[in-house]
Amino acid sequence: MNSDVVIAGAGPAGLIAAEQASRYGLKAVLLEKHAAVTDSLMGELVTDKALRLLRIKPDSECVTNKFNRIVGESLDTGAHIAVDRGLLGSSYLLDEDKVQLLLSNRATSNGAQFVFKARADSVVKQGDQVVGVRYNQDQTVRAGLTVGADGSFSRISSTAGFTHPKWLLSYGYRFKLADCRIDDPNTAYFYVGRDVGLGYLWLYPRSRTETNLGIGRVPSSKNNWNALPPMKDVLQKYIREHLGPNARIVNVNGGVVPCAGLIPKFTGAGVALCGNSAGQVSSIVGGGVTTCLHAGALLARHAKRMTEQNDFSARNTVLYEKEYRKTKLAHSIQNTAMGMWAVSRYAMLNDPIAAAEKVLSQLDAKTLNEVIQGHVSPGTAMSLLTDFLPLVARLGMGYVRSIAVVGP
Ligand SMILES: Cc1cc2nc3c(=O)[nH]c(=O)nc-3n(C[C@H](O)[C@H](O)[C@H](O)COP(=O)(O)OP(=O)(O)OC[C@H]3O[C@@H](n4cnc5c(N)ncnc54)[C@H](O)[C@@H]3O)c2cc1C
Repeated sequence: MNSDVVIAGAGPAGLIAAEQASRYGLKAVLLEKHAAVTDSLMGELVTDKALRLLRIKPDSECVTNKFNRIVGESLDTGAHIAVDRGLLGSSYLLDEDKVQLLLSNRATSNGAQFVFKARADSVVKQGDQVVGVRYNQDQTVRAGLTVGADGSFSRISSTAGFTHPKWLLSYGYRFKLADCRIDDPNTAYFYVGRDVGLGYLWLYPRSRTETNLGIGRVPSSKNNWNALPPMKDVLQKYIREHLGPNARIVNVNGGVVPCAGLIPKFTGAGVALCGNSAGQVSSIVGGGVTTCLHAGALLARHAKRMTEQNDFSARNTVLYEKEYRKTKLAHSIQNTAMGMWAVSRYAMLNDPIAAAEKVLSQLDAKTLNEVIQGHVSPGTAMSLLTDFLPLVARLGMGYVRSIAVVGP
């Protein structure tokens, strides 16, 4: 089989790459190890940028809900902080089944070919040039550009020789629930707490009776991880205490999200990565759907350029990477990743929940929003330093202590 682009993985990054590449008239083949496109959007929370990338309106049937407020709260003390839409911009809940169908239908009607039950084993090389993918042990697709959109444990990445020296993974579960009691379906919640560990539990209501509920946790050390209750138990406890006696789970899924920011290099001769495989995830909130859609769409545009130029050399594929690294989303990913990295080191030997409690009870919504987005203005940085000097000093000392014991 020959094509212009072969894409491994039908998550949001691979789906949009296939949809956009085929829209540009490229011959695209998508290999997916599962029998169908399923469960690709996880929590389903996105920003309005995702809607623009998907070319859908807020009233589209692909959009289940819209949030007016996001609340950060401590499960232990109830300390909380609310960020409203004026500061945050709009946040939406997508319907994953409908979005998957939309992208798959658009791609296939443009001529893209989806091959299911096709597990990518490795890239195929001619000299240093990647020229396609070997899958299911003895099958091959040859292409000008090979795209690794095959998630956090990408085979394309590892066999093409990309590395991720600062790998920091967040492990998570998502439940979909029905027959719940939700007081305010237009508020999304992020909870911290002792049982949650280094991460957060989240509630994204779909309606007054249905919700997505999940948890994401980063292991700061094996001991710290083992001391925590299993993540599914933490979710079950939340359901019992908050969602009413009739709440029932209708779907469970889990996954892994990279939180250390962009990997050092994600393009080479004939090959490029996008999505989780390249670390294109906003680390602090673990949000990858919007960022993966953005990266996949950008890569498809470059695939068109490379195909027209018939040039898939490393010097040409790197133009995608260079443009990507200059985008606002990439800056936000890198800034929040630095924060996440520092917090995870701090948490090895110190108590991150006490620090989180302090932040929730003292920080204002505007500042919290800037920190989450990874765009802290100089003014905010100064007031953070002065208002939180004792906390900053404690964090600094704790961080230095961790570095001294476990290294950078
Ligand atoms: C519990 C949880 C909740 C989340 N909630 C949100 C949220 O609400 N909002 C948000 O923005 N982000 C969320 N995320 C993060 C987001 O889901 C990911 O960042 C995003 O899905 C990554 O997209 P991707 O296309 O890069 O990879 P993936 O979604 O991981 O897709 C990779 C695809 O490749 C396939 N594949 C893997 N290996 C191979 C192979 N060897 N050959 C062929 N196919 C292969 C997989 O089957 C899969 O279909 C959440 C993550 C988790 C774990």
